[in-house]
Amino acid sequence: MNAPAKIAPATLAKLAKLGIHHRADLLLHLPLRYEDETHLTPIADAQPGMTVQVQGVVTHSEVMFRPRRSLVCRLLEGHAELTLRFLNFYPSQQKQLAVGKQIRAIGEVRMGYFGLEMVHPKCRAIDDDTPLPQSLSPVYPTTTGLSQAVLRKLIHNALETLPLTDTLPTPLLKKLQLADFGDSLRLLHTPPPDISTATLQARSHAAWRRIKFDELLAQQLSMRVHHRERSKHLAPALPAHRKLTAALLQKLPFELTGAQQKVWREIAHDLGQTHPMQRLLLGDVGSGKTIVAALAALQAIENGYQVAFMAPTEILAEQHYLKLNEWLVPLGIEPVWLSGSLKKKEKTAAAARIASGDTLLAIGTHALFQAAVEFNRLGLVIVDEQHKFGVQQRLALRNKGKAPAHDAGRVLTRHASAKQDEIVGLKPDLQNHEPHQLMMSATPIPRTLAMSYYADLDVSVIDELPPGRTPVVTKLVSDARREEVFERVRAACLAGRQAYWVCPLIEESDALEVELQNAIETHQQLTAALPELKVGLAHGRLPPAEKAAVMAAFKAGELQLLVATTVIEVGVDVPNASLMVIDHAERMGLAQLHQLRGRVGRGAAESLCVLLFMQPLSELARERLKVIYENTDGFVIAQQDLQLRGPGELLGARQSGVAMLRFADLNEDEDLLEQARLTADELLRDAPDVARAHLHRWMANKHDFLQV
Ligand code: ADP
Ligand code: MG
Repeated sequence: MNAPAKIAPATLAKLAKLGIHHRADLLLHLPLRYEDETHLTPIADAQPGMTVQVQGVVTHSEVMFRPRRSLVCRLLEGHAELTLRFLNFYPSQQKQLAVGKQIRAIGEVRMGYFGLEMVHPKCRAIDDDTPLPQSLSPVYPTTTGLSQAVLRKLIHNALETLPLTDTLPTPLLKKLQLADFGDSLRLLHTPPPDISTATLQARSHAAWRRIKFDELLAQQLSMRVHHRERSKHLAPALPAHRKLTAALLQKLPFELTGAQQKVWREIAHDLGQTHPMQRLLLGDVGSGKTIVAALAALQAIENGYQVAFMAPTEILAEQHYLKLNEWLVPLGIEPVWLSGSLKKKEKTAAAARIASGDTLLAIGTHALFQAAVEFNRLGLVIVDEQHKFGVQQRLALRNKGKAPAHDAGRVLTRHASAKQDEIVGLKPDLQNHEPHQLMMSATPIPRTLAMSYYADLDVSVIDELPPGRTPVVTKLVSDARREEVFERVRAACLAGRQAYWVCPLIEESDALEVELQNAIETHQQLTAALPELKVGLAHGRLPPAEKAAVMAAFKAGELQLLVATTVIEVGVDVPNASLMVIDHAERMGLAQLHQLRGRVGRGAAESLCVLLFMQPLSELARERLKVIYENTDGFVIAQQDLQLRGPGELLGARQSGVAMLRFADLNEDEDLLEQARLTADELLRDAPDVARAHLHRWMANKHDFLQV
């Protein structure tokens, strides 16, 4: 084995920018693509559109000033000529391309003013006997000031000097039909000339598959390890007593669907454990997550513990507050309401009730985890639409559960219907306890994404809608036919139903102002066009009391048409509303359109969603509207969204805490992901040393993979 090369400090700094901190990281710095310098094309055979390598003698070299300053050279081979043109160039390049020099140039050939030419080809001076490279030339991701040549040399050196031992045992590789690690790396860094460039570029070659598998395995291992670590923490056991929960179920006007019963069983079981639940409840819009959350809350309350129920917007939080009041007050439990818009005095009063343990259920916005709010004994945190919250916010709420030591063993509370003797049975070390966590999301996450990025959570899925829903019909209508849509609204409302009109989303810096202006103008326009209807307006700037009044009036059927900004995006529930018009639908994302459409189709009436769009449509907008028009299943839509946007955008806030995959592609590599997931569990159970070695190779320099 050769000695490792010394690396200059300036180069080290640049490598660090690429995430290369250890010599071994060089091995996993894999090519973006390859250039084929292994053979030459005679200039006489070069055709426009081809990317080729040619060689010849410089017969002419000149700096021209028209149409703009450029270096123009003529390359001669036999009788054939080719022009090389450079718009930006260094004096050194000019020297390299002096008349009489022999040059090899790679680039795309096109037809130019002087005949065939290459613009900005990659050039290299050669002698008569400079050999051609024997393998495809890797092109690496790099950063300013770090040349491909330097990177290639460093990586080559790492390949020669570092051990390329396989982290995975041979029988496992055989079973999964995976290639050897060292062979794969060598092949990817220095592919032989006879290899199929296509399979290399498409990353479908066995060597790529091995590396992608390793990456996915590392990701799965790391998330499972996190999951394990957190499940070693302590939480109060909140077993099912089936008193309050049974009472609620009995009072409901409906039966839980099979899917709701299944997820409810999973949650009820988790709550009974002495380590914190870390469960994500996924269910499409309208699948009935709120009742499941209410049951979970009751189980905690039965055990004398407090529950914090948090939603991302005031409207949604308030709706939960009203709903839970309706369900829980008859059972003797009075939720307390806490939001940022409460007056200071009200807020202090609410916080005091929470701190004294007087109240067992607090519902609100992120105001719930402000420093001033101190829970007495928080047992369960429920976060609705969890993807709308940042990692930091959720962490803050979880830490609220760690009660100060003097609270330990404190006796509860006048609303606690649970029997006191059940409370006495609790462990006294409350200060080490964390609350259980139930996160909910209506953004259906494609299976691959859920498996990959939520591998640190347990996932429950409600995969069935309550019965009696009629599917929503979707229509795409150009804004030129706006008036016809007014008529639709009129007809629906006069027939006794209700409608939403959602105003466009504005993305400029003064978005709120413009959005508000827009909503007000649309409201005026609709009031004028439909004088016989009662039209309400809800937007983000309305004082909370007014907003609540408008929503209540709509819910009660006193308003027939509700003009709203996207404040109604999540969670609003008015079964009699059967028409949804989305203005400027071309500006909205798929998840948002799906959520909005989910506001209708909740009752028995046939529902309609009109997507009004403004011409001309961008390519992406056209794609999105097509997807939403053709699909109603949230999971299918999410899968399409993943293809249109990639996982980074789809995951939003969560992404900030997650190192994204560099090589694997969740669309293409589902089979590898599935294998990696199974293998991760197997290794953690049967071969922890192997798991550790593998994590070390892939994660040695990653920061904490996930902080949630
Ligand atoms: P989401 O999952 O979008 O939060 P909600 O919890 O708001 O959905 O439920 C949507 C509507 O369906 C509500 O009116 C709710 O009361 C109702 N609902 C929930 N479960 C059932 C069920 N099993 N049968 C009938 N209606 C139900
Ligand atoms: Mg909801």
